[in-house]
This record gives sequence, C-alpha cells and structure tokens, in this order.
Amino acid sequence: MTKSIEAVAIVGLGLIGSSIARGVREALPEVKLSGYDTDPAVRARARELSLADSIPDDPAEAVAEADLVIMCVPVGAMEAAARAIAPGLKFDAIVSDVGSCKAPVLRALRNALPDALIIPGHPIAGTEKSGPDAGFAALFHRRWCILTPEPGTNAQAVEQIAHFWEALGAKVEIMDPERHDLVLAVTSHLPHLIAFTIVGTASHLEEVTEGEVIKYSAGGFRDFTRIAASDPTMWRDVFLANNEAVLEVLQHFQDDLDGLVKAIRSGDGAALFDWFSRTRDIRRAIVYEGQDVAAPDFGRST
Ligand code: NAP
Repeated sequence: MTKSIEAVAIVGLGLIGSSIARGVREALPEVKLSGYDTDPAVRARARELSLADSIPDDPAEAVAEADLVIMCVPVGAMEAAARAIAPGLKFDAIVSDVGSCKAPVLRALRNALPDALIIPGHPIAGTEKSGPDAGFAALFHRRWCILTPEPGTNAQAVEQIAHFWEALGAKVEIMDPERHDLVLAVTSHLPHLIAFTIVGTASHLEEVTEGEVIKYSAGGFRDFTRIAASDPTMWRDVFLANNEAVLEVLQHFQDDLDGLVKAIRSGDGAALFDWFSRTRDIRRAIVYEGQDVAAPDFGRST
C-alpha cells in the first residue's frame, strides 16, 4: 500500500527539472516541492525563480521528506546523483527519472539504490535549450510520458506516478525499457545524430560556399540546426548509454541511404517519388495525431 504523493523532490533543475517544478506549482499547488542541483549557480538561480519551497545545498536533505523523487540529470550522471540522495531517501519513496533512455538508467538507479521503489519514466517533450530559465509548465501538455516499470512493481505506485504526469498535462503509456530504447533510437536519437552530422558537414562546406549556407539556411538547413543546438552533455550520454539500439537503427539508415544514392545515380525517378510520397504521409500522420501543427514552415512568422 503506497500513500499519496504529498511531497516531491526534483534532482537536477535544468530544462526538464524546472519544467516539472513549474508544472507542479501550476497543477498541484498543494504538493510540497524541494529541489537540488550539483551546480551552486543553478541552485541560486532556482531559488531566485522560486522553483521549489526548499532548495538545500545537500542532496540527501533535499529528498528527506519526498514521497516521489524525480531524477532530472543527464543519463551519465544518474548513478552518482542517486548515490548522493541515498542517505536521505524515505524507505517507501518512489524514485523516478526523465532520462532519454531507459534500460541503462534503470541499471544505474538499481546499482545506487538496490532496495528502492524505482519506476523509470521519460516525458517525450523537450527543446534545444538547457538550464532553469529554459523550463515552462506547458512543456508536457499533450505529450507522451512513457513509464517503464519492472515486472512486479507495485501497481498502485505506477498508477500514482501516471496520475502525476497526467496532472502535468501528459498522456501516459507503459512500455518495456528495451522497446522504449529501440523506439526512441528511431524517433529521437537517430534524427539528432543526423542533424549533428548535417550541420557539422555544412559548416565544413562553408569554406566552399563562402558563407552562403547561413544566408540561405531557410531552404531546410535551419530546421536541422535547431535540433543540432541541443545540449552536448545530454546527447553524449544518450549515445554512450543507448549505443546498441542506436547502432541497430543506424544500420537500417545506412541501407536506406545506399538505396537513395543508387536511385539518384541510376536516374530512378519512380523510386525517389515513391520514397518521398511515403515520407510525406508520415508527416501528415504526425500532424493528424496532434504531435505538430499543420501551419506552413512550422508556423513561423518570418
Ligand atoms: P539540463 O537543462 O542540462 O539540466 C540538467 C541539470 O542537472 C544541470 O543543471 C546539471 O548541472 C544537473 N546535474 C548534473 N549532474 C547532477 C547530479 N549528479 N546531481 C544533481 N544535479 C546534477 O538538462 P535537461 O535537458 O533538463 O535533461 C535532463 C534529463 O532529461 C536528461 O537525462 C535527458 O536525457 C532528459 N530529457 C531531456 C529532454 C530534452 O529535450 N532536453 C527531453 C526529455 C528527457 P551541470 O550543468 O552543472 O552538470
């Protein structure tokens, strides 16, 4: 039997952590909020922004009263952050997280907190910005949050955390962690890797094009630059942790790229047309599902 969530602690007060804090303030004002971040400047800024009722300098103190602790640190910092809160954690607290891959994060949290009630999570929502000023309460509205509980996890606790995310405006889905990591390798990790590649390659080509890549970037390039501006620490950790799923998906990508290269080389217009028609249908399905707006140029005014 788990009791209701009256106090929440957020560990890591960057984009996602501060968005959760703002969401709790807005949607669950009766919940007592505490926070912690390793960076003293982030803690100071979070206090200025009144992101939580208390933001102590000690991680164990920050979680001491919490019924739910949400780890919002980079994937590679999860284990150290969990070890730091261990001395203060209540025995029946739910420990969750927002990490972008789930099987490696579950292993990291289990290593640090072998006896804790751990229910990993991942809100599929974000921006290319970082830090406590970048967060906003509406970040999770109408976005999916995937929970990956281990078999046998207390069902009531899973329900509680599902309700928590629903209160913040998210839609909740339960998934196996390995399945999550493969799906996200396709929908998030591969697109980021491609954006990092394209923007890096184009910057090399700037020498050839004499500055015209930036000038004419509205031709499509700038849409990749938004993704390629994402946090380097976060993405380094995602590719190191989710390496197996990413490499599997990359093999498919390379095969498809080879196919398109062949079609271009042999002048196979029908193959190109079929391929681009399929991708256009995928974009339409995403808009139909409400995961993006139908406005031309993503609704930009300029
Ligand atoms: P962020 O804005 O960089 O915030 C992370 C914060 O955690 C930073 O202030 C960082 O401090 C702090 N931190 C690092 N190690 C810590 C530790 N051991 N204990 C306490 N605090 C620590 O990053 P974010 O975008 O919010 O990402 C946080 C998590 O959310 C990541 O696991 C990421 O995979 C996941 N996520 C991100 C997105 C997205 O779009 N950004 C979307 C969904 C999920 P320092 O800067 O000093 O290291």
